[in-house]
Amino acid sequence: MKGPVEIAPGVHGLGSEYVNWYLVEEGGRLTAVDAGLPAFAKHLDDDLRALGRRRSDVAAVVLTHSDIDHTGVVNELREGGARVLVHSADEGTLARPRQKTGDASPRNALPYLRNATMWRLLAHMVRGGAARPRAVTGAETFEDGDVLDVPGSPRAVHTPGHTPGHCVLLFESARALFAGDALCTFNPLTGERGTQLMPFPLNVDNEACLTSLDKIEPLDADVLLPGHGDPARETPAAAAARARSLR
Ligand SMILES: [Zn+2]
Repeated sequence: MKGPVEIAPGVHGLGSEYVNWYLVEEGGRLTAVDAGLPAFAKHLDDDLRALGRRRSDVAAVVLTHSDIDHTGVVNELREGGARVLVHSADEGTLARPRQKTGDASPRNALPYLRNATMWRLLAHMVRGGAARPRAVTGAETFEDGDVLDVPGSPRAVHTPGHTPGHCVLLFESARALFAGDALCTFNPLTGERGTQLMPFPLNVDNEACLTSLDKIEPLDADVLLPGHGDPARETPAAAAARARSLR
């Protein structure tokens, strides 16, 4: 997604062809869901201007997780006055970015080395500043089930697997589910389209990713907004079923 693109009333998608972040509007104030790559800072003000907004209109950044392609412009938004919120289990890696563990070992990525999409993604990430992750300290934390006191009042649903503190965010009034990297609609290693789990070597615990689909399935929404790939106009139940069928 490049943006800003209006996906639903008051819901805007931004980012690049590989990496998405979002702005949700309520009562003239904005919540950012994730914050893309560090290089997105270069066009942050232009993106906001295209929406008739500026940094100080962003009241909060809610992170689905702490990976570096989701936290890029957090510090810029915070300088503009935004609060930063993340699940407690990802607060440590947000404050001190480090290599992922568990299933997410470089060895598990070896089978993907012949894949051109993976190399394009890597180049995009490096150009986007992901090789120099930026620490974000002092974030507020939330827990599973919390309804966050930010514009749009999203409910956080803890869906560990991609990271220990990964959450999907349900904005009930917009009928939108922000899936983070619990689900994607573009496989960043193979280029395959369609709703699916993130590829094996990018998740710290693939069994947990599958179990987390059980928590996504009953949620009530009309559109699924992933960290990677186009929005999917499908219910969380359909998305979860499709992702399971591919395993
Ligand atoms: Zn991601």
